Amino acid sequence: MTVSREVHLASRPTGTPKPEDFELVAVPLPELGEDQILVRNTWMSVDPYMRGRMDDVPSYMPPFALGAALEGSAIGEVVASRAASVPVGATVSHFLGWREYAVLDAGAATVVDTSIAPPTAYLGALGATGLTAYTALTRTAPVKEGDVVLVSAAAGAVGSIAGQLARQLGASRVIGSAGGPDKTKKLLDVFGYDAALDHRRGDLPGQLAEAAPEGIDVYLDAVGGDHLQAAIGAIRPGGRIAMVGAISGYNALRPAPGPDNLFRAAAHEVTLRGMLVSHHFHLFPEWIGKAAGWLAGGTLRTEETVADGIERAADALLGVLAGANTGKMLVRLGTDR
Ligand code: NAP
Repeated sequence: MTVSREVHLASRPTGTPKPEDFELVAVPLPELGEDQILVRNTWMSVDPYMRGRMDDVPSYMPPFALGAALEGSAIGEVVASRAASVPVGATVSHFLGWREYAVLDAGAATVVDTSIAPPTAYLGALGATGLTAYTALTRTAPVKEGDVVLVSAAAGAVGSIAGQLARQLGASRVIGSAGGPDKTKKLLDVFGYDAALDHRRGDLPGQLAEAAPEGIDVYLDAVGGDHLQAAIGAIRPGGRIAMVGAISGYNALRPAPGPDNLFRAAAHEVTLRGMLVSHHFHLFPEWIGKAAGWLAGGTLRTEETVADGIERAADALLGVLAGANTGKMLVRLGTDR
């Protein structure tokens, strides 16, 4: 195996990215250096934050380079190794997604335990996705016994886990918002939400008032904009808001104005706190220690939306930004052994 295909950033998008902004390129694989491994990628993750890396602006991660392969979380099988610590046959997670094969330093890969969960779980519930929900609801905006909790993008990767976690943490009522009747039904039937708001129906404040007549105590914000405004409008004294994402603005040409009711947060002594999951990776053992058992026992239910083949990777990213996924959006690059 000397050639691999990978997805390059062909052009920087203006607003919503287009398929032409990506290019599938065949590249020769370099020889393995000392302490390096060759990984046959089987799965890669597409995540909303990747949209930000397509722009040439300073952020918490550098922009993707034009004409070079994109990066992101991936899982694969080690097919050649010059590192004693990572043997051929191991399943590893690493950060060189968007390509069929990856050559990387062994130290940049983590061997994952596929006896406790399937490989894809390490890109979803047992990966940064699950850890985001866990950190947000235990550290950033901790849920207390009896709280009323609101989660946005609730049928997505983080949100589908966050609702179930809020319940585990003692929430008395868990409300999710998602786009469209199929997803709102799934919130109630599969992901354990007590009430579901359909943001495509409009009047979010009205729908929230109906679902939580006494207001909410905790809000996990994945959306920003109208959702954050509605949550501030409904939050009770001492409430907590975890600012995790603002996907409603990721393709916007100019930033949306902030909520116009922010003073309500002052009057109610509300905490609005940001959270970046990469600053909380030390919590992985704590989270995996709980979540792997819940997954295996069926008390944590997850879904995946799968695109097949590296040719579909760009579409999968465009899809996650547009709401084409339920649960975690993944790209299958090869077969698990
Ligand atoms: P996801 O929820 O699986 O996918 C994104 C979802 O956002 C879509 O499926 C869509 O669902 C929803 N959406 C898109 N545009 C929207 C809009 N204008 N209004 C309302 N909903 C909209 O993605 P994820 O990976 O779990 O990430 C969720 C959020 O958490 C994102 O904002 C992401 O950036 C953030 N995040 C942050 C961290 C961190 O460290 N801070 C880590 C991971 C993720 P609907 O069809 O329901 O609209």
